[in-house]
Amino acid sequence: MKRDIAKFYLPAFAAFCAFILTLLAFFLTTKSINEREALAFNSLSVQVKQSISTRMQTYINALVQTRSMFYVTDEVDRKEFYHYIENLNLLEEYPGIQGIGFTKRILKKDLASHITAIRKAGFPQYKVWPEFNRPEYHTIIYLEPFNWRNQKAFGFDMFTDATRREAMEKARDTGRPIITNRVTLVQETGHDIQQGFLIYVPFYEDVATEGKVEERRDKLRGFIYSPFRAKDLFKDILTPYKKAEIGIKVYIDSSDKKDLIYSSHQESLLKRALFSHQYEIGVASKKWVIKTYSLPGFGKPVDLAPLLLLILGLTFSFLLFWFIWKHQKYSIDERDRAKNYEVLNQIGRTLSAELDLDKLVHSITDAGLKLSKASFGAFFYKGQDERDKKFTSSTFSGTSRGAFREFPIPRDTPIFEATFIGQGTIRIDDITKDSRFPEGHFPVKSYLAVSVISRTGEVIGGLFYSHPDRAVFGPREQILIEGIASQAAIAIDNAKLHKKTMEAVAARDEFLSIASHELKTPITSMKLQFQLAQKLVDINDERAFDQAQIRKRIQLANAQLDRMSKLVSDMLETARFSSQRLDLNKEELDLAEVALSVIESLRPQLEVQEIKLEFKNQATSPLIIGDRFRLEQVMTNLITNAMKYGLNKPIDVRLEERDGAILFKVQDRGMGIPKDQLPKIFNRFERAISSTNISGLGLGLYISREIIKAHGGEIRVESTPHQGSTFTVELPRFK
Ligand code: ADP
Repeated sequence: MKRDIAKFYLPAFAAFCAFILTLLAFFLTTKSINEREALAFNSLSVQVKQSISTRMQTYINALVQTRSMFYVTDEVDRKEFYHYIENLNLLEEYPGIQGIGFTKRILKKDLASHITAIRKAGFPQYKVWPEFNRPEYHTIIYLEPFNWRNQKAFGFDMFTDATRREAMEKARDTGRPIITNRVTLVQETGHDIQQGFLIYVPFYEDVATEGKVEERRDKLRGFIYSPFRAKDLFKDILTPYKKAEIGIKVYIDSSDKKDLIYSSHQESLLKRALFSHQYEIGVASKKWVIKTYSLPGFGKPVDLAPLLLLILGLTFSFLLFWFIWKHQKYSIDERDRAKNYEVLNQIGRTLSAELDLDKLVHSITDAGLKLSKASFGAFFYKGQDERDKKFTSSTFSGTSRGAFREFPIPRDTPIFEATFIGQGTIRIDDITKDSRFPEGHFPVKSYLAVSVISRTGEVIGGLFYSHPDRAVFGPREQILIEGIASQAAIAIDNAKLHKKTMEAVAARDEFLSIASHELKTPITSMKLQFQLAQKLVDINDERAFDQAQIRKRIQLANAQLDRMSKLVSDMLETARFSSQRLDLNKEELDLAEVALSVIESLRPQLEVQEIKLEFKNQATSPLIIGDRFRLEQVMTNLITNAMKYGLNKPIDVRLEERDGAILFKVQDRGMGIPKDQLPKIFNRFERAISSTNISGLGLGLYISREIIKAHGGEIRVESTPHQGSTFTVELPRFK
């Protein structure tokens, strides 16, 4: 689990770096694009501002030019004015202008004659309006083109309107072209009413009037002027910028809403502008405020570039993460596999080389721990003794080894028992949730248990692994541990076989030395006898020919030969027993009678050794079916052993009867047999003592057991060291 998180860090870090780089690139590109856009917008705005300024200047120039005509000609009549304006071609070239007009100053005393003159000239309806008494009147008498819209202004006294008057007075007093604030033109109808403004250029009686304000006021003849409809004007000025995605607002005097004369777009659209600029320009002595706005479409196609970069960058970051993650996972898997392979290899080597069982199980448990990533491992296996049916021995490994020693595995718990009886592998993600698990037993969750089964099919142990985290063991871990378990089984079998072989070899070596000693003793003794006899013959000693002496020597030689032939026949029989079944000459026998005859045959030796032997027959009829010769052999063996190892103390021989069996017991009070030797003494070549002062080949009991087995009986021993031994032969009773 921890390693999984560690695996996540590297790709995550790489992806994070890529992500940061992407963001950086995104912001830098956006910034540089924005800067470029800003520059582009800036120059566009300047151009727009310039266009407005130039256009207005053109109009002012035209007005000033028209004024010159009035200075040149004393009285400009309507026709001249018309031609002049038409020649200017201004209206066609710059359609924003409404027209160019002439407004004449008329003193009150001249008003009536003025009206009459105009009416006579063909405008009978003419009047100067509004009509109220005032010292001077300013009436529009020419306004070209004199179309229906402009005719509406004919005779209008603009001096009566405060806004217009302000500009007119300023023009009059300064002698310069002056523009009005925002006005609604008199030409406006009810339809498409636009904001408007006017420009006045004053002219006086004397061209050279440059003097004082009073003089100018006195000599003012009138104004050349132009009315403008703002929407028409600015639309025309902006025509070349139609596709440039730029919006403008124009104010006269201040950027206050009341001074706004033109707005190219809805306020809501202009509000969203990415860039905007504000300029102030002077138009006919008035301050104009021009605001420019980038419209949403401004620079749009280029905007996609950083977005594309962002998307590509993010995709790249993700791919980088994925790639490193995959690659790393792959290489970690590879490393894992290589490590596992190494461990397995090492186990293979260790297991095949290790014949010490304890070391072996340790190596197995440790290897399993490494391969399974468990935190704790244990191997419960059968002890050295083949007949030990319990799984007593155990080995632990892992970090919490100490803690687990306090939790011995209770073998009768069903979940553990399943492994000990070889029910197969048990792998559980969270053992605390398993009902078979003893509550509060182990501080673990993941559980993996595999039986170790020998080639004979016998369960020789169980490998147990666990971990405090859940689901640590997967199918891979299971396969690995099962692999270890089967290797372990082979190795343990081998170790046990090896141990047996080594023991057998050691016993045989011991036997050979004993056998040669046993054979050599009578040979040496005989050789001595014969050498002595030879010597006596050589020196012609009469003792060499003494009959009694010769008989004694022959008896001695015979006794030694008997002993040798007994040894040889024992050895031959042993060899035969291991290769073929024992043939019995069965007959009905009375064991009491057989025992008595054996004891009788041993009597001389008992007397020589001064050993008391008591025989009691406690069986009512000790009848059996058996081979007399073989049973005599067994009894002789047991009694001679009691004589050999009984320290010359009294020997009890008994015949007893129990549950359809006859028991033949030989009890001595001698040296006894150490407990650890008891299971061995019936094996071939096995002797409880290796001392050579009591002769023997370690074959007697082996032969005896084979004979009794062939009779369907049993031979056993009970013994206490230094107190004596009791050998019991149990044979099935005949009827
Ligand atoms: P051996 O020729 O050595 O007597 P056996 O097969 O008859 O061979 O006995 C095997 C071993 O068992 C003996 O070497 C001896 O150590 C032990 N043994 C047999 N009988 C007795 C006994 N009555 N008291 C003590 N040890 C005995």
